[in-house]
Amino acid sequence: MISPRLLDLVRCPECHGLLRGSPLTCASCGRAYPGASADFLDLRPQVAFEERTKYLDEALHADARHERVSPPLLGSKIRNDMLRAFLAPTAADVVVDLGCGSGRALVWNRDWGAATVGIDIAPFFAQDARSQVDLVVGDLRRLPFADGTFTRAFSLDVLEHLSPDALRAMLAEAARVLRPGGSLFVYTHVRRNARIAVGLRWVNALARRLERAGLIDMRQERLRKSDHLNPLADIPELHRVVAECGFRVARIRYYTPIVGGVVENILMRMAERQMARRAAARLGSHMDAAAADQEAIKAARTAAKAHIARSGTTRAVLRALTAAMKLDLLLFGSIESGPFFALLERVPPR
Ligand SMILES: [Zn+2]
Repeated sequence: MISPRLLDLVRCPECHGLLRGSPLTCASCGRAYPGASADFLDLRPQVAFEERTKYLDEALHADARHERVSPPLLGSKIRNDMLRAFLAPTAADVVVDLGCGSGRALVWNRDWGAATVGIDIAPFFAQDARSQVDLVVGDLRRLPFADGTFTRAFSLDVLEHLSPDALRAMLAEAARVLRPGGSLFVYTHVRRNARIAVGLRWVNALARRLERAGLIDMRQERLRKSDHLNPLADIPELHRVVAECGFRVARIRYYTPIVGGVVENILMRMAERQMARRAAARLGSHMDAAAADQEAIKAARTAAKAHIARSGTTRAVLRALTAAMKLDLLLFGSIESGPFFALLERVPPR
Protein backbone atom coordinates (compact mmCIF):
# COMPACT_ATOMS: atom_id res chain seq x y z
CA MET A 1 0.00 0.00 0.00
CA ILE A 2 0.99 3.66 -0.13
CA SER A 3 -0.05 5.33 3.14
CA PRO A 4 0.20 9.10 3.84
CA ARG A 5 2.93 8.12 6.35
CA LEU A 6 4.96 6.47 3.57
CA LEU A 7 4.65 9.62 1.43
CA ASP A 8 6.04 11.57 4.43
CA LEU A 9 9.00 9.21 4.86
CA VAL A 10 10.27 8.89 1.29
CA ARG A 11 12.87 11.17 -0.30
CA CYS A 12 14.59 11.37 -3.67
CA PRO A 13 17.08 8.47 -3.85
CA GLU A 14 19.51 10.67 -5.81
CA CYS A 15 19.69 13.79 -3.60
CA HIS A 16 17.38 13.09 -0.59
CA GLY A 17 15.20 16.06 -1.61
CA LEU A 18 11.50 16.20 -0.73
CA LEU A 19 9.12 14.52 -3.17
CA ARG A 20 5.90 16.24 -4.15
CA GLY A 21 3.06 16.02 -6.62
CA SER A 22 1.90 13.40 -9.05
CA PRO A 23 4.00 11.84 -10.43
CA LEU A 24 6.27 12.29 -7.39
CA THR A 25 8.87 14.88 -8.33
CA CYS A 26 11.98 15.91 -6.39
CA ALA A 27 11.77 19.49 -5.12
CA SER A 28 15.60 19.75 -5.22
CA CYS A 29 16.87 18.02 -8.38
CA GLY A 30 13.61 17.95 -10.33
CA ARG A 31 13.69 14.29 -11.13
CA ALA A 32 10.25 12.69 -11.56
CA TYR A 33 9.38 9.18 -10.40
CA PRO A 34 6.50 8.09 -12.61
CA GLY A 35 6.68 4.34 -12.01
CA ALA A 36 4.30 4.13 -9.03
CA SER A 37 1.61 1.46 -9.13
CA ALA A 38 -1.60 1.52 -7.14
CA ASP A 39 0.01 -0.26 -4.20
CA PHE A 40 3.73 0.54 -4.13
CA LEU A 41 6.10 3.39 -4.99
CA ASP A 42 8.89 3.00 -7.55
CA LEU A 43 11.88 5.05 -6.33
CA ARG A 44 14.74 3.36 -8.11
CA PRO A 45 17.72 5.68 -8.61
CA GLN A 46 18.67 6.80 -12.10
CA VAL A 47 22.22 5.45 -11.85
CA ALA A 48 22.38 2.06 -13.46
CA PHE A 49 24.31 -0.27 -11.23
CA GLU A 50 26.08 -2.96 -13.16
CA GLU A 51 25.44 -5.53 -10.52
CA ARG A 52 21.94 -6.97 -10.70
CA THR A 53 20.46 -9.84 -8.81
CA LYS A 54 18.76 -12.83 -10.40
CA TYR A 55 15.86 -11.95 -8.13
CA LEU A 56 14.82 -9.57 -10.90
CA ASP A 57 14.16 -12.68 -12.92
CA GLU A 58 10.53 -13.56 -12.73
CA ALA A 59 11.32 -17.29 -12.85
CA LEU A 60 12.33 -17.14 -9.20
CA HIS A 61 8.96 -15.70 -8.33
CA ALA A 62 6.69 -17.60 -10.68
CA ASP A 63 5.97 -19.82 -7.78
CA ALA A 64 2.77 -20.21 -5.82
CA ARG A 65 4.51 -19.24 -2.62
CA HIS A 66 4.59 -15.59 -3.61
CA GLU A 67 0.95 -14.98 -4.36
CA ARG A 68 -0.38 -15.19 -0.81
CA VAL A 69 1.51 -15.09 2.48
CA SER A 70 1.29 -18.35 4.44
CA PRO A 71 2.00 -18.36 8.18
CA PRO A 72 5.70 -18.87 9.06
CA LEU A 73 6.65 -22.53 9.42
CA LEU A 74 9.91 -24.51 9.64
CA GLY A 75 12.95 -22.41 8.65
CA SER A 76 10.93 -19.26 8.04
CA LYS A 77 9.40 -19.60 11.52
CA ILE A 78 12.83 -19.95 13.10
CA ARG A 79 14.12 -16.88 11.26
CA ASN A 80 11.03 -14.88 12.19
CA ASP A 81 11.23 -15.90 15.87
CA MET A 82 14.87 -14.80 15.97
CA LEU A 83 13.98 -11.52 14.26
CA ARG A 84 11.29 -10.84 16.88
CA ALA A 85 13.53 -11.82 19.81
CA PHE A 86 16.56 -9.78 18.68
CA LEU A 87 14.91 -6.69 17.18
CA ALA A 88 11.85 -6.51 19.50
CA PRO A 89 10.26 -3.33 18.07
CA THR A 90 7.46 -1.49 19.86
CA ALA A 91 4.64 0.67 18.51
CA ALA A 92 6.95 3.70 18.85
CA ASP A 93 9.46 2.30 16.31
CA VAL A 94 9.84 3.04 12.63
CA VAL A 95 11.09 -0.14 10.94
CA VAL A 96 12.38 -0.87 7.44
CA ASP A 97 12.74 -4.32 5.86
CA LEU A 98 15.75 -4.03 3.53
CA GLY A 99 15.23 -6.53 0.72
CA CYS A 100 11.70 -7.49 1.77
CA GLY A 101 11.01 -9.91 -1.13
CA SER A 102 7.31 -10.79 -1.09
CA GLY A 103 6.86 -8.61 2.01
CA ARG A 104 5.80 -11.57 4.11
CA ALA A 105 7.90 -10.71 7.21
CA LEU A 106 6.10 -7.36 7.48
CA VAL A 107 2.73 -9.09 7.12
CA TRP A 108 3.68 -11.63 9.85
CA ASN A 109 4.79 -8.94 12.29
CA ARG A 110 1.97 -6.43 12.00
CA ASP A 111 1.30 -7.02 15.73
CA TRP A 112 4.43 -4.95 16.51
CA GLY A 113 2.22 -1.95 15.90
CA ALA A 114 5.30 -0.17 14.54
CA ALA A 115 5.35 1.93 11.40
CA THR A 116 6.93 -0.33 8.76
CA VAL A 117 8.19 -0.04 5.20
CA GLY A 118 9.40 -2.80 2.90
CA ILE A 119 11.86 -2.06 0.10
CA ASP A 120 13.07 -4.40 -2.61
CA ILE A 121 14.71 -4.09 -6.02
CA ALA A 122 12.16 -6.52 -7.50
CA PRO A 123 8.43 -5.67 -7.48
CA PHE A 124 7.28 -9.25 -6.75
CA PHE A 125 5.24 -8.43 -3.66
CA ALA A 126 2.60 -10.81 -2.36
CA GLN A 127 -1.01 -9.69 -2.69
CA ASP A 128 -1.39 -9.64 1.12
CA ALA A 129 1.64 -7.37 1.46
CA ARG A 130 0.37 -4.99 -1.25
CA SER A 131 -2.86 -4.50 0.64
CA GLN A 132 -1.47 -4.41 4.21
CA VAL A 133 2.01 -2.83 4.32
CA ASP A 134 3.86 0.13 2.82
CA LEU A 135 6.08 -0.98 -0.08
CA VAL A 136 8.75 0.66 -2.21
CA VAL A 137 10.74 -0.60 -5.19
CA GLY A 138 14.25 0.75 -4.78
CA ASP A 139 17.95 0.04 -4.57
CA LEU A 140 19.49 -0.82 -1.17
CA ARG A 141 22.65 1.06 -2.22
CA ARG A 142 20.68 4.31 -2.75
CA LEU A 143 17.82 4.32 -0.24
CA PRO A 144 14.96 6.80 -0.86
CA PHE A 145 14.87 8.01 2.76
CA ALA A 146 16.38 10.90 4.76
CA ASP A 147 19.18 10.38 7.30
CA GLY A 148 17.97 8.95 10.62
CA THR A 149 14.47 8.05 9.38
CA PHE A 150 14.31 4.66 11.11
CA THR A 151 14.87 3.28 14.62
CA ARG A 152 15.07 -0.35 13.53
CA ALA A 153 15.89 -2.25 10.33
CA PHE A 154 16.19 -5.85 9.26
CA SER A 155 17.51 -7.77 6.29
CA LEU A 156 16.88 -11.50 5.91
CA ASP A 157 18.70 -13.66 3.31
CA VAL A 158 19.98 -10.57 1.48
CA LEU A 159 23.64 -9.89 2.32
CA GLU A 160 24.87 -13.13 0.75
CA HIS A 161 23.55 -11.96 -2.63
CA LEU A 162 25.80 -8.86 -2.67
CA SER A 163 29.38 -8.36 -3.85
CA PRO A 164 31.87 -7.03 -1.26
CA ASP A 165 31.44 -3.48 -2.67
CA ALA A 166 27.66 -3.68 -2.78
CA LEU A 167 27.62 -5.06 0.78
CA ARG A 168 29.59 -2.03 2.04
CA ALA A 169 27.36 0.36 0.09
CA MET A 170 24.25 -1.33 1.47
CA LEU A 171 25.47 -1.28 5.10
CA ALA A 172 26.57 2.36 4.82
CA GLU A 173 23.10 3.29 3.51
CA ALA A 174 21.45 1.29 6.32
CA ALA A 175 23.62 3.18 8.85
CA ARG A 176 22.67 6.50 7.23
CA VAL A 177 18.91 5.97 7.45
CA LEU A 178 19.09 4.61 11.03
CA ARG A 179 19.22 6.90 14.04
CA PRO A 180 22.31 6.50 16.23
CA GLY A 181 21.57 3.72 18.73
CA GLY A 182 19.20 2.16 16.21
CA SER A 183 19.73 -1.44 15.18
CA LEU A 184 19.83 -3.66 12.12
CA PHE A 185 19.00 -7.36 12.42
CA VAL A 186 20.57 -9.58 9.74
CA TYR A 187 20.34 -13.24 8.85
CA THR A 188 23.07 -14.30 6.44
CA HIS A 189 26.23 -16.41 6.37
CA VAL A 190 30.00 -16.20 6.11
CA ARG A 191 31.92 -18.66 3.93
CA ARG A 192 33.78 -20.40 6.76
CA ASN A 193 31.69 -23.11 8.41
CA ALA A 194 32.15 -24.79 11.77
CA ARG A 195 33.42 -28.36 11.91
CA ILE A 196 29.96 -29.48 13.00
CA ALA A 197 28.77 -28.43 9.54
CA VAL A 198 30.22 -31.71 8.26
CA GLY A 199 26.81 -33.05 9.38
CA LEU A 200 25.26 -30.69 6.83
CA ARG A 201 27.44 -32.11 4.08
CA TRP A 202 26.08 -35.58 4.85
CA VAL A 203 22.53 -34.24 4.66
CA ASN A 204 23.31 -32.59 1.30
CA ALA A 205 24.98 -35.73 -0.05
CA LEU A 206 21.90 -37.72 0.91
CA ALA A 207 19.69 -35.10 -0.79
CA ARG A 208 21.71 -35.44 -4.03
CA ARG A 209 21.40 -39.21 -3.90
CA LEU A 210 17.64 -38.96 -3.42
CA GLU A 211 17.43 -36.50 -6.31
CA ARG A 212 19.22 -38.95 -8.62
CA ALA A 213 16.68 -41.56 -7.53
CA GLY A 214 13.91 -39.13 -8.56
CA LEU A 215 12.59 -38.80 -5.02
CA ILE A 216 13.27 -35.09 -4.58
CA ASP A 217 13.76 -32.04 -6.78
CA MET A 218 16.38 -29.43 -5.80
CA ARG A 219 16.19 -27.18 -8.90
CA GLN A 220 14.53 -24.21 -7.22
CA GLU A 221 17.09 -24.42 -4.39
CA ARG A 222 20.00 -24.49 -6.86
CA LEU A 223 18.58 -21.52 -8.77
CA ARG A 224 18.35 -19.56 -5.49
CA LYS A 225 21.88 -20.47 -4.42
CA SER A 226 23.34 -19.69 -7.85
CA ASP A 227 22.76 -16.01 -7.06
CA HIS A 228 24.94 -16.16 -3.93
CA LEU A 229 28.10 -14.03 -4.05
CA ASN A 230 28.97 -14.71 -0.37
CA PRO A 231 30.99 -11.51 0.24
CA LEU A 232 32.09 -12.34 3.80
CA ALA A 233 34.90 -14.86 4.41
CA ASP A 234 34.58 -15.32 8.16
CA ILE A 235 33.31 -13.79 11.40
CA PRO A 236 36.37 -11.55 12.00
CA GLU A 237 35.76 -10.07 8.54
CA LEU A 238 32.10 -9.48 9.47
CA HIS A 239 33.23 -7.47 12.52
CA ARG A 240 35.65 -5.42 10.37
CA VAL A 241 33.19 -4.67 7.59
CA VAL A 242 30.31 -3.64 9.87
CA ALA A 243 32.70 -1.38 11.87
CA GLU A 244 33.81 0.34 8.63
CA CYS A 245 30.15 1.01 7.83
CA GLY A 246 29.13 2.49 11.18
CA PHE A 247 27.92 -0.55 13.12
CA ARG A 248 29.08 -2.87 15.87
CA VAL A 249 27.94 -6.46 16.41
CA ALA A 250 25.82 -6.20 19.57
CA ARG A 251 24.55 -9.80 19.56
CA ILE A 252 25.17 -12.88 17.42
CA ARG A 253 23.81 -16.42 17.34
CA TYR A 254 25.02 -19.06 14.90
CA TYR A 255 22.76 -21.41 12.99
CA THR A 256 23.97 -24.74 11.68
CA PRO A 257 20.75 -26.37 10.44
CA ILE A 258 21.45 -30.07 10.81
CA VAL A 259 17.99 -31.09 12.04
CA GLY A 260 16.71 -28.30 9.79
CA GLY A 261 18.55 -29.73 6.77
CA VAL A 262 16.97 -33.16 7.29
CA VAL A 263 13.51 -31.63 7.69
CA GLU A 264 13.65 -29.04 4.88
CA ASN A 265 15.99 -30.60 2.32
CA ILE A 266 14.92 -34.22 2.70
CA LEU A 267 11.49 -34.69 4.31
CA MET A 268 9.75 -31.62 2.86
CA ARG A 269 11.20 -32.17 -0.62
CA MET A 270 10.14 -35.81 -0.67
CA ALA A 271 6.61 -34.73 0.28
CA GLU A 272 6.68 -32.02 -2.40
CA ARG A 273 7.90 -34.47 -5.07
CA GLN A 274 5.13 -36.87 -4.12
CA MET A 275 2.51 -34.14 -4.45
CA ALA A 276 4.04 -32.99 -7.76
CA ARG A 277 3.70 -36.53 -9.15
CA ARG A 278 0.04 -36.57 -8.27
CA ALA A 279 -0.46 -33.11 -9.76
CA ALA A 280 1.35 -34.18 -12.97
CA ALA A 281 -0.97 -37.14 -13.32
CA ARG A 282 -3.95 -34.79 -13.01
CA LEU A 283 -2.52 -32.28 -15.51
CA GLY A 284 -2.33 -35.03 -18.12
CA SER A 285 -0.12 -35.23 -21.18
CA HIS A 286 -1.01 -32.16 -23.29
CA MET A 287 2.23 -30.39 -22.27
CA ASP A 288 5.81 -31.28 -23.02
CA ALA A 289 7.61 -33.01 -20.19
CA ALA A 290 9.66 -30.09 -18.85
CA ALA A 291 6.78 -27.61 -18.84
CA ALA A 292 4.47 -30.20 -17.30
CA ASP A 293 7.11 -30.79 -14.62
CA GLN A 294 7.34 -27.10 -13.72
CA GLU A 295 3.55 -26.81 -13.71
CA ALA A 296 3.33 -29.88 -11.51
CA ILE A 297 5.72 -28.39 -8.96
CA LYS A 298 3.71 -25.17 -8.88
CA ALA A 299 0.48 -27.12 -8.55
CA ALA A 300 2.05 -29.21 -5.77
CA ARG A 301 3.03 -26.10 -3.82
CA THR A 302 -0.44 -24.63 -4.19
CA ALA A 303 -1.95 -27.96 -3.13
CA ALA A 304 0.44 -28.16 -0.16
CA LYS A 305 -0.58 -24.69 1.01
CA ALA A 306 -4.26 -25.55 0.73
CA HIS A 307 -3.67 -28.83 2.53
CA ILE A 308 -1.79 -27.12 5.39
CA ALA A 309 -4.58 -24.54 5.73
CA ARG A 310 -7.19 -27.34 5.87
CA SER A 311 -5.54 -29.99 7.97
CA GLY A 312 -5.01 -29.46 11.70
CA THR A 313 -2.98 -32.67 11.87
CA THR A 314 -0.56 -31.48 9.19
CA ARG A 315 -0.16 -28.16 10.97
CA ALA A 316 0.56 -30.00 14.25
CA VAL A 317 3.19 -32.18 12.53
CA LEU A 318 4.81 -29.09 10.97
CA ARG A 319 4.80 -27.32 14.34
CA ALA A 320 6.49 -30.36 15.93
CA LEU A 321 9.11 -30.42 13.15
CA THR A 322 9.67 -26.68 13.65
CA ALA A 323 10.22 -27.30 17.38
CA ALA A 324 12.72 -30.07 16.55
CA MET A 325 14.52 -27.65 14.20
CA LYS A 326 15.01 -25.28 17.16
CA LEU A 327 17.42 -27.88 18.54
CA ASP A 328 19.96 -26.62 15.99
CA LEU A 329 19.92 -23.25 17.75
CA LEU A 330 19.94 -24.73 21.26
CA LEU A 331 22.74 -27.21 20.57
CA PHE A 332 24.96 -25.30 18.16
CA GLY A 333 23.91 -21.64 18.61
CA SER A 334 27.13 -20.58 20.32
CA ILE A 335 29.51 -22.52 18.03
CA GLU A 336 30.98 -20.09 15.48
CA SER A 337 29.70 -21.20 12.07
CA GLY A 338 28.70 -19.98 8.59
CA PRO A 339 25.05 -18.95 8.94
CA PHE A 340 24.19 -16.54 11.75
CA PHE A 341 21.66 -14.12 13.18
CA ALA A 342 23.17 -10.83 14.32
CA LEU A 343 21.97 -7.57 15.79
CA LEU A 344 24.11 -4.72 14.49
CA GLU A 345 23.98 -1.53 16.51
CA ARG A 346 24.37 1.83 14.77
CA VAL A 347 27.37 3.51 16.38
CA PRO A 348 27.08 7.32 16.75
CA PRO A 349 29.45 8.93 14.21
CA ARG A 350 32.61 10.37 15.80
ZN1 LIG B 1 16.47 14.77 -6.08
